[in-house]
Amino acid sequence: MGRAFVYVIVGGGVAAGYAAHEFVKRGVSHGELCIISEETVISLSLSIYIYICVCVCVYICNVSVVVPVAPYERPALSKGYLLPEAPARLPSFHCCVGSNEERLAPKWYNEHGIELILGTRVKSADVRRKTLLTATGETISYKYLIVATGARALRLEEFGVNGSDAANVCYLRDLADADRLVNVMQSCSGGNAVVIGGGYIGMECAASLVINKLNVTMVFPEAHCMARLFTPKIASYYEEFYQSKGVKFTKGTVLTSFDFSPDGKVTGVNLRDGSKLPADMVIIGIGIRPNTSLFEGQLTIEKGGIKVNSKMQSSNSSVYAIGDVAAFPVKIVGETRRLEHVDSARKAARHAVAAIMEPEKTGEFDYLPFFYSRVFTLSWQFYGDNAGEVCHFGDFSGNSSFGAYWINKGHLVGSFLEGGTKEQYEAIAQATRVKPKVEDLAELERQGLEFALSV
Ligand code: FAD
Ligand code: NDP
Repeated sequence: MGRAFVYVIVGGGVAAGYAAHEFVKRGVSHGELCIISEETVISLSLSIYIYICVCVCVYICNVSVVVPVAPYERPALSKGYLLPEAPARLPSFHCCVGSNEERLAPKWYNEHGIELILGTRVKSADVRRKTLLTATGETISYKYLIVATGARALRLEEFGVNGSDAANVCYLRDLADADRLVNVMQSCSGGNAVVIGGGYIGMECAASLVINKLNVTMVFPEAHCMARLFTPKIASYYEEFYQSKGVKFTKGTVLTSFDFSPDGKVTGVNLRDGSKLPADMVIIGIGIRPNTSLFEGQLTIEKGGIKVNSKMQSSNSSVYAIGDVAAFPVKIVGETRRLEHVDSARKAARHAVAAIMEPEKTGEFDYLPFFYSRVFTLSWQFYGDNAGEVCHFGDFSGNSSFGAYWINKGHLVGSFLEGGTKEQYEAIAQATRVKPKVEDLAELERQGLEFALSV
């Protein structure tokens, strides 16, 4: 059994949604494009009743329905999805609402002649034959393949700790994880939550847990939160803000084991420093691994991802890679990087489609790295590279905006701003792209945001 398409996207997350949108904008014909994605969610159970006679109805059972999921804006899962009041739910956050464009509900794909093969895992790929084999036994062949398989959450077992499968231990990568997290969180209201990891998932989930009235302790090995991006000064602002909301921090240590109740739930978290934290629920956010396994031994792998050129084309000219799984040349920093952020996934997706459909008109992908987060009433944006010396500016007391510039080899290479306006964020992005020369750090600190606004 088999079908053939001109274009196939494997993976149906953010990058796939934006790629589909770009294919349609560029005039893909009906029947040419197919998206294969394994993501599913268990929907609300249906209650089954039978009628004994016209007016007597007997309850039989509840049935859970596995529903396949079309591409959606994954960032919603750690933010609006976890809110106790008016939480975000599909279809409201299907791609491409995250960049204020049209919302691609499943119907949209149908109307544009795009074949959605959802709830289906691709279990092997043969790039020489240009075929994919799905878990349902179907062979799909392509002329061009776009790999958009994203990443999976790292599990505790990979660090030698058992207990990931306990009913009150949660990860957060997909919609099924988010539903599970919501259920666990609601069943623990007023209780103790331990968040393992001080990165993006840890910070955003800790804020959501507080909003849901749990007592939160964050545990991570570094000296401060968001250690790969934040300076100690920036981190201390956010940590103090979180502490003012009741979050406790246990830093410089990792968990070594869990305590369990007789019914298999985690009741306590044991740390390497010898301490123990009581837990009604645990959230794990200790990083990700790109889903490259289909292509290992077939495509060049670098920095844990599929290595692509500035047209997002892999070592096989018919295969492109985008999103979390792709390691691409980030021109502005002069090296190949794998970025795990939504803006990069969206823009790389559009670029890959342009490169496939209009190769002669498509130049190099010249991407300015952009990361952001929004928690509580806080909101920050970062552009560029956090390399070199740091110059902080602004008001770190919480009354106004503050930020930082990174200066490498005499040029501005990175900019961070908390609490900025749209115009101010645009200004730091533009200044970072221009890479202006900076000779006097004290003068830069004095000018602060004015420096970016004047570039
Ligand atoms: P994904 O969106 O993960 O999509 C990959 C898809 O491929 C999945 O649906 C998966 O099921 C499918 N798949 C994988 N393997 C197979 C296979 N073999 N067969 C079929 N299908 C397969 N970034 C930001 O910049 N800002 C944020 O605020 C932000 N918030 C986030 C919140 C959460 C909870 C998470 C998990 C991530 C967040 N990110 C954020 C990161 C951002 O969502 C990712 O960078 C982005 O989703 C990457 O897009 P992608 O298409 O490469 O991968
Ligand atoms: P991150 O890489 O951001 O952070 C993981 C954190 O866990 C790091 O602080 C890491 O420390 C720490 N860690 C690693 N091992 C352990 C351990 N054994 N015990 C305790 N802590 C440990 O990954 P996340 O899981 O937070 O996020 C997953 C993905 O989701 C990322 O791709 C991220 O970009 C994305 N995401 C992005 C958001 C955004 O951009 N706003 C929001 C939510 C998710 P170390 O650095 O020392 O390894």
